[in-house]
Amino acid sequence: MAAPDGAGAVVRGVFGHAGFRAGQGDAVAAVLAGKDALVVLPTGGGKSLCYQVPAVVNARRGGGTALVVSPLIALMEDQVAALRGRGVVAAALNSHQDEDAQREVIDALLAGQLEVLYVSPERAVLPGFKRLLARVAISLVAIDEAHCVSQWGHDFRPEYLRLAELREVVVAPMIALTATATPVVMAEMARALALVSPTTVIGDFARPNLRFSVQHHRADDDRLAAVVGACEAAGLRGTGAGGRAIVYCSTRKKAEAVAEALRQAGFAAGYYHAGRTALARERAQRSFAGGRTRVLVATSAFGMGIDYADVRLVVHFQAPGSLEAYYQEAGRAGRDGEPASCVLLFGAADLMTQRRLQGERGGAAVIERREQALAAIDRYARQARCRQQVLCAHFGATDAAACARCDVCTTPDAVSDRPIAVAAAALDGDARATVLAAIGHLRRPVGATTLAKALRGSRAKTVDVAGLLDLPEHGALADADEDAIVATIAALVRERLVVRRGKKYPTIALAGAEVARSGLPRAATPRMATARTGAPRARTGLLRGRGGLTSELARDLDQLRRRLARELKWKAYMVYQERVIAALDAQRPRDKQALLRVPGLGPAKVERFGDQLLAVVRRHDDA
Ligand code: ADP
Repeated sequence: MAAPDGAGAVVRGVFGHAGFRAGQGDAVAAVLAGKDALVVLPTGGGKSLCYQVPAVVNARRGGGTALVVSPLIALMEDQVAALRGRGVVAAALNSHQDEDAQREVIDALLAGQLEVLYVSPERAVLPGFKRLLARVAISLVAIDEAHCVSQWGHDFRPEYLRLAELREVVVAPMIALTATATPVVMAEMARALALVSPTTVIGDFARPNLRFSVQHHRADDDRLAAVVGACEAAGLRGTGAGGRAIVYCSTRKKAEAVAEALRQAGFAAGYYHAGRTALARERAQRSFAGGRTRVLVATSAFGMGIDYADVRLVVHFQAPGSLEAYYQEAGRAGRDGEPASCVLLFGAADLMTQRRLQGERGGAAVIERREQALAAIDRYARQARCRQQVLCAHFGATDAAACARCDVCTTPDAVSDRPIAVAAAALDGDARATVLAAIGHLRRPVGATTLAKALRGSRAKTVDVAGLLDLPEHGALADADEDAIVATIAALVRERLVVRRGKKYPTIALAGAEVARSGLPRAATPRMATARTGAPRARTGLLRGRGGLTSELARDLDQLRRRLARELKWKAYMVYQERVIAALDAQRPRDKQALLRVPGLGPAKVERFGDQLLAVVRRHDDA
C-alpha cells in the first residue's frame, strides 16, 4: 500500500524528509483510509511520523484534530515544540499546566483550531475529558508506546487498559505504536485497545551499526572489569571527546555501586534510578546530557523517551527480564547511525535476580510468561548464533541475514553454544534431597548462593563466615553447577518447602510448618541443627587408631560408604562423613527414626542408605 499524494507532500513540505521510511507509508495509508493500524518500528524508526502526517493531512482537509496519547510529559512537550517549529498547530494537556493554560488548550480544541493534541493516558480516560471529546471532530487517535498495555512489561501503565473507552466517544481510526513487541504482545495490544482488523506494520529491526556481544561472568568483579574495559575501548575516559555510555543494572544498589567503581576507575560516571529524588534524577540526567558525566549507570527507570544521538556503548551489567527490554535499552546506542556497541554481561544468577525483583505477583499465567521471557534472554546469551539474527527473529523477522559484526559472527571460535539452563536448571532426585537436607541442617539462615558454594565444597570466606564449612553436606554436590543448585533452592522456595526472608539480602531456611504438613520427617527441621552437639565430632578423633578405624562396626560402615561411593561415582565423604560413622558407632541406631537423629545424615540419605546402614549396625549388635 502506498501513501496517497497528499501525504507525500506533507512529508516533504512540512517535515522536510525526502520520503517515507520502511513501514511509514503503509501505516499512513491505512490511517488515511480510515483503518486501525498496529505499528511496530524499532526505536528511532520514525513512529511519530506515522500519525503526524495523517494528522496534518486530515486537519488541512477539515477533518478535525488528531488525539495522541503519550505516557511521558517530557516526551509530549518535545513533540509539541517540534511540531510547532514546523508550523503545525499542536498542543498538550497535562498535569504540569496551570488551569489557565489548560483552559486555553481546551478552548482551542473546542474552536477546532488544533491539528494535534497530546494527552496523558490518565487524562484521556477522565469522564470530563471524554465528554469534551464527544463535542469535537477527532480525525484519529494515536496510542504511543502502546506496549504499556502489557501487564508483564516493565512499562505497564494501568490506564492504558482503559484506552479502549475512547471508542465510546470517538469515531475515528486508532493507530497503536510501539518499539517493543513480540507477536504475543502485539495480539495483546490489539485486544486491549479493541483495534478492528488493524493493518499491521512491522519495521526492519536490524540495526546495522550496532555490534552486539555477550560475556559470561558470574562475579561482580569480573563484570566490573568488563565494564571498565568496554568504556575504555569506547574512548570514554576523561571529559573531552564526544560519545557516552549507559550501563544498565537490575537494582538500584548495584547501579550505585557500579557508578562508584567506575568513578574510582577514573571515569566521569553518574547514576540514575527511581529511588533518587526527582531533583537528583534531573541533575544526573542533565550532567549526562551536557557531557559532564560520560557514563550513566541506571536502572530501567532511565529510558523511555530518552534520546541521545551519540551513545557509543550500552552495557547491561546484568541481564534484564526480557529480550524486548534488552533490545529497547540496548537500542539506545548509536541513534546517530555511527558504530556503537551493546554488551550483555550474563550469568544465570541474573535470571534469579529478575525472578526475585518481579516477585510472585500476578498468578500462574504471569509467572509462566515471565519464565518464557527469561528463557528467551537465556537462549540469546547462550546460543552461538548471530545476535542480530536472534533479536530480529524474536520480533518476528526470520529472514534477517547474519550481521557480520556481533561477537558470534566475528569470533565464532571464542563463542560456542552453552547449555540452556532456565528450564533444566533445578536439580532433582538425590541432589535435590541433599539440598533440602542441607537447608534442614542450617543453624541460621544463609543466602542461597553461599549455601550453593558450600554444597559444591567451596572453602571461600563467605562460606566460612556463614558457618557452613562443617555442614554435613559440605561438598556433597561437588559436581553440580552452582547455578543449578541456586535454581533448586528457588524451586524449593516456590514449592514452599523452603522460605526466603529479607529483601536486600534474602536468606533461606526450612519452612518448618509446611515441612510438617508435607510429611517430611521432623529431623529435617532446623531444630535438629540446634540439637547437634560437639560429641560426635569429639569422638571422630578417637576413630582412627594407628591402624585406622578402631571398631569393627566403624570399619564396616567405612567399607559400605566406599562401596556405595564407587557405585555412585561419588567421593566417599559425599555418602556420609567420618563423623557420621563415629556417631553411628556410638549410638547404634536400630530404626530409621533413630537414624534421622544422627547428625550429618539427613532425610535424603536415610531414605537412600538407611536400610543398608541399619543392616550393618544390626549385624554388629547381633554379633
Ligand atoms: P521513534 O519514535 O520511532 O523512536 P521518531 O519518530 O522519534 O522515532 O523518529 C526518529 C528520527 O527519525 C527523528 O529524528 C525523525 O526526524 C527521523 N525520521 C523519521 N521519519 C523519517 C523519514 N521518513 N526520513 C528521514 N528521517 C526520518
